[in-house]
Amino acid sequence: MFRKKKEKVELVEKKSQGLWRKCEKCEQIIYNQEWEQRYRVCPNCNYHFRLTAMERIQLLIDPMTFEEQDREIYPVDALSFKYLDTTYKEKLKEAQEKTGQNDGIIIGKGNIYEYPIEIGVMDFEFLGGSMGSVVGEKIKKAVFYAIKYKIPLVLVATSGGARMQEGMLSLMQMAKTSAAVAKLEQYKLPFIMILTNPTTGGVSASFAMLGDIIMAEPGALVGFAGPRVIEQTIKQKLPAGFQSSEFQLEHGFVDMIVERKNLKQTLFNILDYLYDW
Ligand SMILES: [Zn+2]
Repeated sequence: MFRKKKEKVELVEKKSQGLWRKCEKCEQIIYNQEWEQRYRVCPNCNYHFRLTAMERIQLLIDPMTFEEQDREIYPVDALSFKYLDTTYKEKLKEAQEKTGQNDGIIIGKGNIYEYPIEIGVMDFEFLGGSMGSVVGEKIKKAVFYAIKYKIPLVLVATSGGARMQEGMLSLMQMAKTSAAVAKLEQYKLPFIMILTNPTTGGVSASFAMLGDIIMAEPGALVGFAGPRVIEQTIKQKLPAGFQSSEFQLEHGFVDMIVERKNLKQTLFNILDYLYDW
């Protein structure tokens, strides 16, 4: 039914040092080369290791077609937020140096097997993928670009939630991003959401659950508050696998679970169907 595309992507920034590594989940020793070939998925337990935003883009977007937009938006420390031993400004600087990004999301235009799309990818490495003013603003911008170019929007979420260091300014991004993605409906443009480990807090309570189609990687933590917080609040044990993407699929919050190696092909199948329509 669908045209099969074959392509082998090599993630540029090789994380492998040496021949072997220990899986974070099952603690088995795995062969680095095999782990890289599987796009950083454990061959033993299928645990999907985290990818940076740029690695995701490499995985999903045709080589040489990605054009980043609005790279020059910088976060500000409106509340002069202080920790006991450091400041938000200091934390931002560290995160910027570590990731080479100004904030926790990259947006841009690119192709998926020649179908143009607008894409936004969050980065967990940047302050736990938290959503502050910049992330919210760039998601809104991505919606506007999708409308301007009349192309579908794909967002990839990974987030611990709202960025508390920005207080109310970060919480209002929930309403802002939700209102922005609702605009796509008026223009009859599809919005495809990909949930990766973890998608929680204010992100799961706003745009991430509003996709026309919601995909999730296997075994991803998807939910609002973490299981520990809920157990402490309701003083009850939660069922096994609670808040896994599989659990959310069973309960109707997620439409499909897609293995990392099949993500691009699945996106292509959907786009092929929609463009044909
Ligand atoms: Zn494993």
